[in-house]
Amino acid sequence: MTDYEPVIGLEVHAQLRTSSKMYCACPADYQDAEPNTRVCPVCLGLPGSLPVINREAIRSIIMIGLALHCSIASHSKFDRKNYPYPDLMKGYQISQYDLPLCTNGYLDVSVDGERRRVGIERVHMEEDVAKLSHLNDPATGKGYSLVDVNRSGVPLVEMVSRPDIRSAEEARQYLMSYQTILRYLGVSTANMDEGSFRCDANVSIRPKGSDTFGTKVEVKNMNSFRSVFRAIEHEVERQAQVLDSGGRVVQETRGWLEDKGVTTSLRSKEEANDYRYFPEPDLPPLNVDPAWVAEIEELLPELPEERRKRFVDDYGLPAYDAVLLTASPGLAQYYEATVHNARANGGSDGVAKTAANWTLTELGRLANETHTEIHESRITPERLSGLLGLLEEGTLGTPQGKRAIEEMFHTGKTAEAVVADLGLVQISDSNALADAVGQAIDANPQAVADYLAGKETAAKFLVGQVMKATRGNANPTVVGELIVERLDAMKG
Ligand code: ADP
Ligand code: ZN
Ligand code: MG
Repeated sequence: MTDYEPVIGLEVHAQLRTSSKMYCACPADYQDAEPNTRVCPVCLGLPGSLPVINREAIRSIIMIGLALHCSIASHSKFDRKNYPYPDLMKGYQISQYDLPLCTNGYLDVSVDGERRRVGIERVHMEEDVAKLSHLNDPATGKGYSLVDVNRSGVPLVEMVSRPDIRSAEEARQYLMSYQTILRYLGVSTANMDEGSFRCDANVSIRPKGSDTFGTKVEVKNMNSFRSVFRAIEHEVERQAQVLDSGGRVVQETRGWLEDKGVTTSLRSKEEANDYRYFPEPDLPPLNVDPAWVAEIEELLPELPEERRKRFVDDYGLPAYDAVLLTASPGLAQYYEATVHNARANGGSDGVAKTAANWTLTELGRLANETHTEIHESRITPERLSGLLGLLEEGTLGTPQGKRAIEEMFHTGKTAEAVVADLGLVQISDSNALADAVGQAIDANPQAVADYLAGKETAAKFLVGQVMKATRGNANPTVVGELIVERLDAMKG
């Protein structure tokens, strides 16, 4: 069997969250609207209606192009992509063919610590289509379809990578990076299960070491990052089996069947000329003023990569924590607000790292369990920094902190309030701990003997006994000191 290398190129569609649609004044937000209530002659595709270019959408796509290091065309145009399908109201989509707005960019991805650059061929403007629902009439058993035109004409940005991706994991990382960038830019919700972020994967394989490409297959219908990953893995495997058994990979479009975990042939691949592209006669060419592009560039927000670097530099975080904390703009802002608050209230130099630990582990776990977002939890940055203050001053130890954060999470109360409610305090006073220490020593003569015979780890065991007896409320550092002090005194 030959050793193959996968070659992958991704086409990603993202809906823009502009206030109106791409070519008409209907609201672009359709998620909660009654079917067919956000429509007008333009997005219904009625003859005689005329489209108008949405400037906000063009601004958004330029932001995306700049974030992906693309060249922004000063001269661009729109084209009709013709195909018959019931979700396409006009019978064509207004897209961009030979003069896309953004070209020649890149996106860096890192897999297992290795960084690779994936080229971006183009980013162009499109419009979304109507939504079809296929149903069954329970009375007659007959199938029927419903058309909701609300989504028709919502601005879509298509981003096309070069065939530079070499594994399913790299494809997943690439998609996650792009999603994060869109969210940082604030131009799209980029949500795969809501359908505001969709991906088609072009997959081919070639013998390792070869520098020509194999025949590619386009895979569609994945609706999560996990399904993109699985679909690519499966498709690579399928093609390898075809080639190994002496067959030929056929250029076609295949659909991913989530339940079966396989791809299945949908149609033979259409060529560009099947779409009879021609310049959109109802829209003027688009001339983009370079001064406007410069202005947009000036106003670009901080992007994930820069923020990650800054988190490492400003907060002394390990790269791993910085990656996790910058995964969404909401979480990054939450973390920064927490640290600023903690520092303003006299937090130590190390409070940034402590904040990262509590945010990622305890809060992360609670958010996971409740299927919520960390930054949307009832523990505001102020409240979390309040808890960090109590931990830093030693009022609470880690076990009390864990109980406190859980209570805060569920009740929305301040750290001080839950400490009072639950009677949480770390016992650090040596007089208060003297009894428990004495009892642990009296009850464990073997551990004492071991320690006196030079086995220092026996002291740890005794500390554990005291922690147990105080239900985790004793300050383990103080207990450790007290135990060693007593045992050393016994050495005489
Ligand atoms: P088409 O003419 O079918 O639209 P393109 O060359 O425009 O093909 O590429 C469409 C997508 O397919 C791009 O993302 C590109 O990177 C990817 N692609 C092109 N050739 C290959 C290949 N041999 N293997 C995998 N992906 C490919
Ligand atoms: Zn409309
Ligand atoms: Mg193409």
